[in-house]
Amino acid sequence: MSNIQCKVVIITGASSGIGEATAKELASKGAKLVLAARREDRLKKLQEEIQNNGGVAIYKVTDVTSHEQMEELAEVALKEFGKIDVLVNNAGLMPNSFLYMKKIDDWNRMIDVNIKGVLYGIAAVLPFMREQKSGHIINLSSVAGHFVGAASAVYAGTKFAVRAISEGLRKEEAANNIRSTIISPGMVKSELTESIDPNFKPMIDKMYEDAIEADSIARAIAFAIEQPSDVAINEMIIRPTSQE
Ligand code: NDP
Repeated sequence: MSNIQCKVVIITGASSGIGEATAKELASKGAKLVLAARREDRLKKLQEEIQNNGGVAIYKVTDVTSHEQMEELAEVALKEFGKIDVLVNNAGLMPNSFLYMKKIDDWNRMIDVNIKGVLYGIAAVLPFMREQKSGHIINLSSVAGHFVGAASAVYAGTKFAVRAISEGLRKEEAANNIRSTIISPGMVKSELTESIDPNFKPMIDKMYEDAIEADSIARAIAFAIEQPSDVAINEMIIRPTSQE
């Protein structure tokens, strides 16, 4: 039996890209999924596809910027499946622009979703995982959590923060049998670049011609989950081979 079989996994940002691909990968390996995002039509379609392929999934419309909604998400998972084995804090956005452009709304959205969303996810599941004396929290950072590019200061700041939070979580919860994994993708085909300022979009689209498929990241996430419980994959960087 795979180590993923019957694990209860909450995935935020499951309505597209990496989250959707991760849901399909984990469902095919027997996980019981709780899919979360804001777009209900997408979640419903994904749930139906998973169920039609013999998998198990429920969904809950959730905005990760709401602490209350994240608590409700954890409660739904517990009510339906009785435990939470894994949380994949995947929801994120990247409306990149230069600082002088003062896109303050975009800065706030990135901070709210990419940082606070991750914290609210951790807050929602950690008490149950501590009680269970087991659990696994997987946070999506980025290569931008290691290197800062022009027009990426705020996004990179949020992804550095995700790595810092994950490392703090690892140290605090190691003794409680709770694993922490940072996933740092390079360029991946998804809807992420759609919110980039039109001034940079053509340049980013050109760069993203080499982007890899979202299921590359899904496989890395599955690899981290399927390790024996005494083995923690703390970080993986997954880039297109051609990405410098
Ligand atoms: P997508 O844009 O395809 O997916 C982003 C997901 O986040 C969507 O499902 C969206 O769902 C969800 N989301 C956005 N805001 C919220 C919110 N407030 N509440 C709940 N869900 C929200 O991008 P990716 O799949 O590429 O991105 C997934 C993660 O991977 C992000 O954290 C991103 O930063 C990271 N990443 C991606 C890279 C890439 O090249 N694609 C590279 C490095 C990291 P909805 O709109 O329905 O709420």
